[in-house]
Amino acid sequence: MLDAEFFRRWMTATAASVNREAERLTALDSPIGDADHGTNLQRGFTAVTAALEKEPPATPGAVLTLAGRQLISTVGGASGPLYGTLLRRTGKALGDAAEVGAEQLVEALRAGVDAVMTLGGAAPGDKTMIDALVPAVDALGDGFTAARTAAEEGAVATTPLQARKGRASYLGERSIGHQDPGATSSALLIAALAEANGE
Ligand code: ADP
Ligand code: MG
Repeated sequence: MLDAEFFRRWMTATAASVNREAERLTALDSPIGDADHGTNLQRGFTAVTAALEKEPPATPGAVLTLAGRQLISTVGGASGPLYGTLLRRTGKALGDAAEVGAEQLVEALRAGVDAVMTLGGAAPGDKTMIDALVPAVDALGDGFTAARTAAEEGAVATTPLQARKGRASYLGERSIGHQDPGATSSALLIAALAEANGE
């Protein structure tokens, strides 16, 4: 079973990995965006860890809804509301149980990813974070490491795609040949889930 402490570790591990990879995320956002993805997420996840430390929520659902609220209120740019919605919706789906099972997490994350697709209008293949998140949720039934691999492969697979959503879509065919920054950060988020589980 996964408790609130596990979900706090997930958020802390994500924050650490976003800090480590911030320059790379911003560099990926340079040719097909406005070179702010790394700094956007650094600001957001710094606020997330601060809020979680200040008043550690008692349930998995409360950890994720607090994290989502922080991302929405601190990250300017498309990715803040999208990641915020992902975590808030996932947290809401977990309800107020003190511990949740792996299967519940799969279903909750699926609800979260569906909410991101509804909010942003992106589908798989549009060269967005969805291209890492959907394969990750599909693989999560096979475990956290399987989800991490699927997310990383999904992020790499965005390179040959033409962007159909977000800022990169303004470039049309010129968006081809670059890995999507949001899919890359989504792979970090999923990798942190495995890390939180000691994998
Ligand atoms: P901005 O584009 O406003 O500068 P960021 O640079 O922080 O925001 O985030 C860019 C990332 O957000 C993209 O690489 C993409 O993965 C994701 N993204 C943008 N628009 C959408 C959307 N409509 N649906 C899903 N993801 C999106
Ligand atoms: Mg940007």
